[in-house]
Amino acid sequence: MNRVGKIVFKEISRISPSQFYSMKNCAYKSLLAESFYKKPLLPVSPNAYLGTALHKILELIAKGVIKNEDDFNKAFDEQVKLQEENLIKMGYDFFIPLQKNVKDFGMKKILLKKHLRNISERPVASSTIKFSSEKWFESKDKLIAGKIDLVIEEEQATEIIDFKTGAITQDILDDEGEVFSEIKEEYKEQLKIYAYLYFETNDKFPTQLSLVDLAKQKFNIVFTESECNIIFEEAKQLLKATNASISSEKFVANPSNTNCKYCLYRPACSFFLKHLETDYSFNDVSGLIINVVKYQNGNVSVFLNCGEMEITVTGFPTKKFHELNDRRNEKINIFNLRKEAMEFVYSATKTTIIYE
Ligand code: SF4
Repeated sequence: MNRVGKIVFKEISRISPSQFYSMKNCAYKSLLAESFYKKPLLPVSPNAYLGTALHKILELIAKGVIKNEDDFNKAFDEQVKLQEENLIKMGYDFFIPLQKNVKDFGMKKILLKKHLRNISERPVASSTIKFSSEKWFESKDKLIAGKIDLVIEEEQATEIIDFKTGAITQDILDDEGEVFSEIKEEYKEQLKIYAYLYFETNDKFPTQLSLVDLAKQKFNIVFTESECNIIFEEAKQLLKATNASISSEKFVANPSNTNCKYCLYRPACSFFLKHLETDYSFNDVSGLIINVVKYQNGNVSVFLNCGEMEITVTGFPTKKFHELNDRRNEKINIFNLRKEAMEFVYSATKTTIIYE
């Protein structure tokens, strides 16, 4: 059974523009990530691993390393294999092969291939246009830093491009009840911080901020210089306040369905575990083991007492019987379950993890 152990909080020396939004939603999550050396306590979705491979390919295309379909196919297989090896190392071999475990794997590959530039689209070697991919930018005080996917610099214009392998927009409901699509706020803020980082290094702001998705659609982010400055300062203040919360022990956690659902540090979060005692909307449960039953087919069920409620979790393999039975009257937390049709009944999945 897994144990979280004692949490030793560490100051966060710097954050990346992409981390800012997550820290804003729950600063405690960033502190937990730092104290666990960014090593998640729960399996990351297989989509994230494919996403890393896809992003790497986009980078290689932008750099001109991948020039044709043969290069593409070779690099694609290599990157996917690399991610699968990572998964094996972390004990998550149940996600392999990624091709079978990621929705729309084939479609994503086809879309990615569209990024291969036709000869006519390739940037013409020119002394006035400079392409820099995966370029590191950091603020003067080094508190905010990150790699920008692509910077295109011309004499009178600079474009910052960030590639996204997932959805860039989300549907929003306006006051009249009409649904419209808008670029995700986290991406807008991320790009505006990049713009400020660019300004700190070059003494001028970029003229265009763009997001490009897998289907090669480009989204333009409208911005002003003062907006970029305000968000940049906000990020620095947030980092300072988050670090200060370690010594004051006044942690800012924000347990909610949106924030916690995909948080990979839930097993270590006392705020979340407390929240779980009254909110049954999650696929995680926490409670005292009151009974463990092994059925004739070998399946094991565990019955938990959670406040006023009794929770049943079915579908554990036989080998879990002793581990669970030896812990009767002890509290356990079980993550990544599937909710069954009957209320307060859950079943184990291949990503289920138990923490004591
Ligand atoms: S589980 Fe929720 S409250 Fe706890 S750190 Fe993660 S996001 Fe924050």
